Amino acid sequence: MSPMRSANAQRTSRSKSSPRAHNGPSLKYLIIAVVAALVFVLVYRRVRPYLQLIQKVVNTLNQEPTERGRTTSQAEHKLVRCVNCGTWVPSDKATRIGSTIYCSTECLEKRSASNDRKLAG
Ligand SMILES: [Zn+2]
Repeated sequence: MSPMRSANAQRTSRSKSSPRAHNGPSLKYLIIAVVAALVFVLVYRRVRPYLQLIQKVVNTLNQEPTERGRTTSQAEHKLVRCVNCGTWVPSDKATRIGSTIYCSTECLEKRSASNDRKLAG
């Protein structure tokens, strides 16, 4: 008689515990999922402006290389002074011999000629 009881007890305990084990966690997960969804929606609503801001920042960052190119081109068009005649000329059009800058090859020739004269005189 005793083995039958123990078997019965085991069955009842299993039948009792198994639905709990099956139902309990799934309900928990359902609640967690619902709460997580609500939190996600709330957080998304709050974060949405920031996300748009980030998108704007990313867009500006993407546009930045062209602006950088402009600044470099502006630097190229920076005015430099001719050492011979003192005329201000764009650096990309100026004639450079080392660190000295000339507005044209004419000034370069004149300067070198005057230097020769100075050396001669
Ligand atoms: Zn010059």
